[in-house]
Amino acid sequence: MSAYLSPWMDEDLAIFRGAVARFADAEMLPNDAAWRRQQHVGREIWRKAGSMGMLLTDVPAEFGGVGGDFRHEAVLYEEFGRRGITGFGQGVHSICAHYLVNHGTDEQRRRFLPRMASGELIGAIAMTEPAAGSDLQGIKTRAVRDGTDYVINGSKIFITNGYLAGLLALVVKTTPGEGARGTSILLVETDGLEGFRVGRILDKMGLKAQDTSELFFEDVRVPAANLLGGVPGQGFYQLMSDLPYERLLIAVGGVAAMEGGLAATLAYVKERKAFGRSLAEFQNTQFKLAELATKTRIARVFVDDCIAKVVAGTLDTVTASMAKYWVSDAQQEVLDECVQLHGGYGYMNEYLVCRMFADARVQRIYGGTNEIMKVVISRSL
Ligand SMILES: Cc1cc2nc3c(=O)[nH]c(=O)nc-3n(C[C@H](O)[C@H](O)[C@H](O)COP(=O)(O)OP(=O)(O)OC[C@H]3O[C@@H](n4cnc5c(N)ncnc54)[C@H](O)[C@@H]3O)c2cc1C
Repeated sequence: MSAYLSPWMDEDLAIFRGAVARFADAEMLPNDAAWRRQQHVGREIWRKAGSMGMLLTDVPAEFGGVGGDFRHEAVLYEEFGRRGITGFGQGVHSICAHYLVNHGTDEQRRRFLPRMASGELIGAIAMTEPAAGSDLQGIKTRAVRDGTDYVINGSKIFITNGYLAGLLALVVKTTPGEGARGTSILLVETDGLEGFRVGRILDKMGLKAQDTSELFFEDVRVPAANLLGGVPGQGFYQLMSDLPYERLLIAVGGVAAMEGGLAATLAYVKERKAFGRSLAEFQNTQFKLAELATKTRIARVFVDDCIAKVVAGTLDTVTASMAKYWVSDAQQEVLDECVQLHGGYGYMNEYLVCRMFADARVQRIYGGTNEIMKVVISRSL
């Protein structure tokens, strides 16, 4: 394939990319099958990633982060995504950290970010509830002020990193009946927390190594000082302002999976023989590959433009929603064809494209469903 280099790449990032690729090959890929079996990646890899400067890469050094920018996060996503490493919930960890960077008090940043950067504290974002996903204003988890504490009752579902997380950005109702203005985010440290319980790790179609879990809160006490930003009723505003970043993360992972799946398929069709020829010699294979390469390039160029915009601070929610929706749809179409070109082997979990296909499905659902993306886009037209 003709070489395409993202315009935002430079020499330093190329060195960083090499280090990430070596880390993924040495520390992650050999463990991926075991992680998928046990449904989580364990704590050790988080500490290793932290010690290698691969967590909170785009968080300022003054707050305990690595001090790079979104391009460093993109490099991580690309190197993990192209290899089909999807259990390590670094995206949600980064999003949780960005709530602190963008909305936390100085004391909250100092308390949590250095431990998140080292991998000691794993972050999660807990919004979704059994009866409230797309319609987040319908959440029921309550936090009632009692002296210097908030007392939390309720439950959350589908929480990425839920089993391993030591810090939750927990979306709660602080004033029921007030809609968006009655919503707040509490920073909840889970270690030894009385009344807090992690339910089962959920059995999913894909993302088998990801510890997506249910969380339960029964009279859980959290100091009022853990209210993100210190002012109640800001939760919705805080969530909305970080949406472009979150949606772009999904698109970056999506295009990386397309590139990885396409590369694996190219190698496979050159090796595999049928009717005395390699699969690559059939015109159908050539045309399919041409289509997949074109679609992948279009996704890449769009995502690269969004990466440049987020670095410049100009990525808006509508453009990020376009990227999330279009790339995740395209990701699934491309990986479906990659499976088809592998024949029966494409349906076997030991093949990368099989795992990538199953992992891709949820990209159209989480981070706001693609239907909600279209609601956002159409409102702007
Ligand atoms: C693997 C996985 C990981 C996740 N990780 C997290 C996490 O870390 N933290 C977290 O808080 N949540 C997480 N989620 C939850 C995820 O964000 C929600 O599942 C998603 O927002 C959809 O909500 P729902 O499941 O309640 O579906 P619903 O909201 O019930 O939607 C069902 C269907 O109705 C459609 N629909 C709903 N409203 C509209 C509308 N206005 N117009 C048109 N169509 C509509 C939806 O698009 C969808 O097709 C995760 C989910 C999964 C599966």
